[in-house]
Amino acid sequence: MTSSQEARNWLRALPKCELHLHLEGTVTPETLVILSARHDSEPLTLEDARALYQYKDFRHFLSTFKLICDRLLTPDDYALIAHKLMRNLAMQGVVHAEVYISCGNILRWKPELSLEDVMTAVEGAVTGFEVQTGVPPPSMMWIVDATRQWGTGPVQKVFCHAAKLKDRFTSVVGVGVGGDEAAGPVGTFREAYRAARKAGLRLTAHAGEATGPVQGPLEIRTALEMDVERIGHGLAAQHDEDLMTLLAQNQVPVEINVTSNVLTGCCPSSQDHPLPKFFEKGIRCVLCSDDPAMFGSWCLDEYVLVHETLGFSLQDMKTLASNSVTASFLEQDKKESILKKIRQHDIPVE
Ligand SMILES: [Zn+2]
Repeated sequence: MTSSQEARNWLRALPKCELHLHLEGTVTPETLVILSARHDSEPLTLEDARALYQYKDFRHFLSTFKLICDRLLTPDDYALIAHKLMRNLAMQGVVHAEVYISCGNILRWKPELSLEDVMTAVEGAVTGFEVQTGVPPPSMMWIVDATRQWGTGPVQKVFCHAAKLKDRFTSVVGVGVGGDEAAGPVGTFREAYRAARKAGLRLTAHAGEATGPVQGPLEIRTALEMDVERIGHGLAAQHDEDLMTLLAQNQVPVEINVTSNVLTGCCPSSQDHPLPKFFEKGIRCVLCSDDPAMFGSWCLDEYVLVHETLGFSLQDMKTLASNSVTASFLEQDKKESILKKIRQHDIPVE
């Protein structure tokens, strides 16, 4: 590739799945202004909103995340952000997305808001997207996310709701836990995960993100023992050679979020990220964006970053895109059709 723009265009045209992003973290300052106009007596200006995204520290980031969630008060608000998200994904060449929706937050802070109404609105946004924009939307699936530091009871409650949602909405496919790992080790949710699996839900978990070299590998191992199918972040596996071998042998997908890990302080810099080590080891790494609007880096930006700064060739990028397909919860025939398009996405001759 002769220029960075050419590489970006090639990576944009590479079909890919986005498997780790939080719906609430896709709200841009521009959309926050719209939500604020709906709900605040003194609405935020764009300048105010942009300032909220300039984090002084991790606590500031969390307070902005909460501030966004506090302005998602009606099913219509969720429909709006789902629509904006699909537009963004389509522009990046994302053909399928599996998106966390923080039902834990809704159940805890917005008891008057029905999860069924939220899902109906979100699914309506998906079906109405093509009519409104003339562009086919990426296929969308939803993963019900619980907040681990609020304890086992609330997590169980969220997973129970997820089972009911799955029966009503085919796009609801799985569950996950996120939040403060140290305050809510994955093993404490064993029962909730067992029940979710029995209900036919697919299992994911953030594990080994911010827990460091001792507790982190343990968290990942526990998640694997609990039949968790995809590991979110998995950074701490870098400290445990045997665990890396286990992940590679079992082809467990690890959802990698480079920019997120750097900006939350879990990894000192993108150059220090263990992604190249994982990839070399044969671990099924999947590039994702986590909270793209909040970290200023969407799925395509992560592909560009990894290609341009971590030494991944275009052939490697095709492997990463293929990983995102095989690790998805799509049906086999849909996976095959995307994989075929990836194979046909030729690498230009220099
Ligand atoms: Zn996450």
